This record gives sequence, C-alpha cells and structure tokens, in this order.
Amino acid sequence: MAFVITDPCIGTKDSACVDVCPVDCIHPRKDEPEFSATTMLYIHPDECIDCGACVPACPVAAIYDSPESTPASQKDLIEANSIYRAGDAAAVSQAEAIVTAHIAGHADLMGVASAERAAAHAK
Ligand code: SF4
Ligand code: SF4
Repeated sequence: MAFVITDPCIGTKDSACVDVCPVDCIHPRKDEPEFSATTMLYIHPDECIDCGACVPACPVAAIYDSPESTPASQKDLIEANSIYRAGDAAAVSQAEAIVTAHIAGHADLMGVASAERAAAHAK
C-alpha cells in the first residue's frame, strides 16, 4: 500500500515531495491548474512505489509510509489521497470535501502550527 499525506501539509503545501518523487504520483503539482485551489497534496495509491523519498523531504512530517501507520486522527485523509485525481474535477471536489470535513472536525490539530502538527497526531 501507498504512502499517505496528512494534515501538516495543510498550510504548508510547498511541493518538496513532488520534487523528489521518482514516479510523479503526488498531485497537484505547481504546474497543474488545481494547485492554487487545493488545500493539500495527495499521493496516488496505485502509482506510489513505496520508495520513501518523500518522507525526509517533507519539512512538516506530513507523510506516513502506509495506511496502517497513519494515526487514527488522520485515517479520513487516506481516502482523500485515494480519491484525488488530477484533471478530474469531481474527484478533486470529493477529496477536498474530505479535507474540509477533516479541518472542521479537528479544530484541536488545526490550532497547532503546521510544523508541530505531526507531533500532535499521536496524542
Ligand atoms: S514513497 Fe516514493 S513513489 Fe511514493 S509518493 Fe513518496 S516519493 Fe513518490
Ligand atoms: S513536502 Fe510535505 S508539506 Fe510539502 S507538499 Fe509534500 S506533503 Fe505537503
């Protein structure tokens, strides 16, 4: 199973992971039209080859190495990663709707600075 981007990406979204991914499975890229409107980035679960390059590249530890290792508070975002498809407006909306609900349901985490949020996942 694939790597998963979680909520520290919200408010960060610097695309450092995109730059190191060898198979271009993280979207939206900065050169894709959805980039400005999306809240975070997503990993395509069928295209990710589990290389691990994105994890140390992420400045806010937003990326977990599998759905199983993704903390309970972030499990909803596994589906968002899975649904998102660049160029598919309906899929983009569905993924973003999950993120919007995640933000609404996790005011505690959203109140933590992005750089500190991953540390708060396990609490
Ligand atoms: S684990 Fe590798 S292939 Fe998967 S998203 Fe990260 S950099 Fe890309
Ligand atoms: S490196 Fe981390 S914060 Fe930056 S876009 Fe990727 S997942 Fe988001």
